[in-house]
Amino acid sequence: MSTFIFNELNFDNHEQVVFVSEEKSGLRGIIAVHNTNLGPAMGGCRMWDYASEAVAVNDVLRLSRGMTYKNAVAGLPIGGGKSVIIGNPKTAKTPALFEAMGEALERLGGRYITAEDVGTSPADMAHIATKTKYVAGLGASGDPSPFTALGCFVGAQAAVKHYLGRDSLEGLTVAVQGLGNVGYDYARRLRAAGAKLIVTDIDQVALERARSELGAEVVAPDAIYDVQADIYAPCALGATLNPATLGRLKAKIVAGAANNQLATADIGELLRRKEILYAPDFVINAGGIIKVCYEYYDKPEADVEAHVREIGATLAEIFKQADSQSLPTSVVADKLAEARFKK
Ligand code: NAD
Repeated sequence: MSTFIFNELNFDNHEQVVFVSEEKSGLRGIIAVHNTNLGPAMGGCRMWDYASEAVAVNDVLRLSRGMTYKNAVAGLPIGGGKSVIIGNPKTAKTPALFEAMGEALERLGGRYITAEDVGTSPADMAHIATKTKYVAGLGASGDPSPFTALGCFVGAQAAVKHYLGRDSLEGLTVAVQGLGNVGYDYARRLRAAGAKLIVTDIDQVALERARSELGAEVVAPDAIYDVQADIYAPCALGATLNPATLGRLKAKIVAGAANNQLATADIGELLRRKEILYAPDFVINAGGIIKVCYEYYDKPEADVEAHVREIGATLAEIFKQADSQSLPTSVVADKLAEARFKK
């Protein structure tokens, strides 16, 4: 008998991994419920043209585990899960595909609540919602990205306070990589707080806007690792903290929205040794899931901002413990999550 799942790289005692399919729509999907100790698992539904089923399995295992940690540290009453649909999001989407996914979620009876993610949109979620109520972030009150940006901003403030002993970002230089939904709003807040911006993107329109509206200096995508900045704010891609970039970064603080910023777990320790203060990605970028969770459970919209601002205090505590225990901030953040969700 094959031990395909239990031996996978990213398998981490997931409670349940469900393969879903439907003949007419051609649905091929995987739902991974990592942990529900704190509540139903919540996390997005990704659609991607995976190179193989094994790659899709490892992706959903890794992403669902990450959601458990993110949701626990954010103090949300939810567990961690994720789903993937195998297919090209540009060419293979149909309403029937998402309706079939909705039926699959309904069969799980609420153990997993899905939301928009890479390759899916509010319109896709609306098709899922015709078959199940276990879907969040239908876009009723808009894009969660501004709340992710707010979390990054208060996270940067906490890092500056801890590391530089300053209450203000006035005059500091921030290197922002990626001016998308989160990055641009984060850059706008940084600018309003008096920071100088050095930015990059592969989208010329976004760069021009940042130059004219925010007075940002623009550099080529690869040059962002070499600029003289106080804070490096990765808001585009994952794995940008790796052996090749660590030798180039001049920033003393990393505070950005991108998921999975550390190429490998040991980079956390390398950052510590280089005396670069790293705001762990899943802690600083939780603003969006906080917003989605409040919306799903009909909790007052007015309370979302205060909850997102708690990210600052959570990071301050992580930084303090990392110093006193001589541990990487990434390890302290993991421990904080585990103390909350592990029984
Ligand atoms: P987005 O797609 O709106 O923006 C990404 C931006 O990065 C785009 O402007 C794109 O042109 C740019 N980019 C792509 N490749 C680049 C490169 N090589 N160099 C520089 N820029 C490049 O995405 P987003 O919603 O702003 O999210 C940004 C990051 O934050 C992603 O990693 C995402 O997973 C993460 N995140 C987002 C949210 C949210 O609420 N949107 C929540 C948590 C985490």
